[in-house]
Amino acid sequence: MRSISILGSTGSIGRSTLEVVEHLGDFRIVAMAAGRNMQTFAEQIARFRPELVACDDSACLEVLKQELDRLGSPLPNVELNSEGLVAVATHPDVETVVSATVGAVGFVPTLRAIEAGKRIALANKETLVMAGELMTAAAAKSGAEILPVDSEHNAIHQCLRGERPKEVRRLILTASGGPFRTKTKEEMANATREEALNHPNWSMGEKITIDSATLMNKGLEVIEAKWLFGFDADQISVIVHPQSVIHSMVEMIDGSIIAQLGVTDMKHPIQYALTYPDRMQNCLEPLDLAGLRTLTFEEPDLDRFPCLGLAYDALTRGGTMPAVLNAANEVAVRAFLDGKIRLDTIAELNRAVMAEHDPVDASSLNSVLSADEWARERAIIKIEKQAAAN
Ligand code: NDP
Repeated sequence: MRSISILGSTGSIGRSTLEVVEHLGDFRIVAMAAGRNMQTFAEQIARFRPELVACDDSACLEVLKQELDRLGSPLPNVELNSEGLVAVATHPDVETVVSATVGAVGFVPTLRAIEAGKRIALANKETLVMAGELMTAAAAKSGAEILPVDSEHNAIHQCLRGERPKEVRRLILTASGGPFRTKTKEEMANATREEALNHPNWSMGEKITIDSATLMNKGLEVIEAKWLFGFDADQISVIVHPQSVIHSMVEMIDGSIIAQLGVTDMKHPIQYALTYPDRMQNCLEPLDLAGLRTLTFEEPDLDRFPCLGLAYDALTRGGTMPAVLNAANEVAVRAFLDGKIRLDTIAELNRAVMAEHDPVDASSLNSVLSADEWARERAIIKIEKQAAAN
């Protein structure tokens, strides 16, 4: 029996992880953390019986108690808010931590799990974007392995198995192009929340779905790839592949391109990260190759999708700049979802906050957290100013 904990069990990745765990049957859920969805959390606790759980605050805990009562299930040990997330991430019996909260909230707990030498199945890409240097240095020190759950990085991890880094020319991340791949700038500017949340290929949480609509998600993935695989920005490229069948590729120095193909279901990369280096039969239908009529590719359009360019810029400038971009983007996406700004304002805000920032070294927790906090404040002020002007 292998022991795991899940940060963000009630989310899209968290729920898929629990399905994988049920299918594999060889994993014990020792600890789980959620935010505020206590109905789903209670059902998960009743089913998987973890020793320790964490939720957002005491009001959530009250709801959780009622829900568990209703289900006739006992309340496990409970911890609250950020301390709770850290406790779940560092539980002494846990071998693998599935990091699947969304945004910067997962950063410190994931870092603490790395420092404790846990294996990390990493979905929460924002943590590596904001503090890649810190997290990879901590992993090198503790011996913790970071296995990507993000399907693109998971694909690259598979393509790189057995290859020598010096023989790699570039990593090629595929992008579906999102719901606005063929839309004009004007159409995108006036897109509704519902249109932006209508991803053509993947069913995911709201934040990553909006990031996919602006291609910020691909930009975050470029930064994530640098830290996971140790390649510089000029060796990481992006190609739009609307069918999302090829999850990503690696081009070798002799021109060979190695690709990983699969169905569009996150249970696939989640299982890979949980069972690595073993491969096990999964619960998914195999990819129907004969049913694939065409696989197409196009260059990303940086004019219509400026967030991708901003991510390359942040990566090249380095230091705390990626943390600033990530924080500004989190605030901007929230504001878009709350109906406060237009979709194209997300990139404008990100660019404006980056323009005000002089990056400093990002190798300490303090510098990363200060940059994150500063960028959030700047983004909020800009949104308020814009609202006052309208
Ligand atoms: P969801 O929004 O579906 O889920 C987020 C999870 O985080 C929920 O369990 C939520 O709890 C929890 N959470 C949010 N805020 C807090 C908080 N303050 N304290 C504790 N828990 C919190 O997101 P996804 O599952 O879609 O994505 C998770 C991460 O994985 C993201 O970083 C995303 O970029 C990445 N990812 C996701 C993919 C996907 O297919 N979904 C693909 C590749 C990467 P609650 O709901 O209870 O409030």
